[in-house]
Amino acid sequence: MRKRIVAGNWKMNKTFREAEDLITEIADKLENIDLRGTEVVLCPPFLYLEMATDIAKESRFKTGAQNIYDNDSGAFTGEISAVMLKGLEVDYCIIGHSERRKYFHEDHAFLARKMEAAIRNHIRPVFCCGEVLAERDAGIHFNVVREQLEESVFFLSPEEFRQVVIAYEPIWAIGTGVNATPAQAQEMHAFIRGLISGKYGTEVASETSILYGGSCNAGNAKELFDNPDVDGGLIGGASLNSGEFLQIIQST
Ligand code: PEP
Repeated sequence: MRKRIVAGNWKMNKTFREAEDLITEIADKLENIDLRGTEVVLCPPFLYLEMATDIAKESRFKTGAQNIYDNDSGAFTGEISAVMLKGLEVDYCIIGHSERRKYFHEDHAFLARKMEAAIRNHIRPVFCCGEVLAERDAGIHFNVVREQLEESVFFLSPEEFRQVVIAYEPIWAIGTGVNATPAQAQEMHAFIRGLISGKYGTEVASETSILYGGSCNAGNAKELFDNPDVDGGLIGGASLNSGEFLQIIQST
């Protein structure tokens, strides 16, 4: 059975004190709910990961980074490696978020190297893929997502790929308040699972968690997660409020 996952991508938000308060609030609330096997992942900024992993040891959530560099160590001023994250016992890492592709010009080849770095250090990558609105309007959204996966992920061996989580995040839905419809999400998720099946076989495909991301909130999470190929969500803005985030978790 594949895992249902709800991951919160905090992006560049919260002071240390605010982050500690929010993580503590979420941890407290998680004590009192039936998670029914859903994995909860918090991805705060790098600076807060040590504090987050300390709290996670006594709680029911895992931690994730929002990015990594592709080398394990060396003269790369300002960068953070997967080795460093592993040392903090961080479990997951978001790779290929559209904001990193857009603002930091991360291309397919660089993302492939980051995927390799995560896998060799046993950090589970959450690989983000998705199209801009013009690509959807032009009817090439399936090709765009196929290329993203083929260029940055499908070089992995089946054993390596088993560590990967995919997040379909239509870029036109991220932070816009306009989510994909449940039908649009299901259609793309089924397409992605089909690609994985073609590359790695049906067993691997059926075990791969494919998350939806893009303006997912407490009001729309259930109808999105109710689809057979939607295995949870990567949540941006709505993960910054403990009450709303908990409602999203309970929608899986
Ligand atoms: C994201 O950035 O991964 C995301 C899904 O953001 P939001 O939920 O705010 O659209």
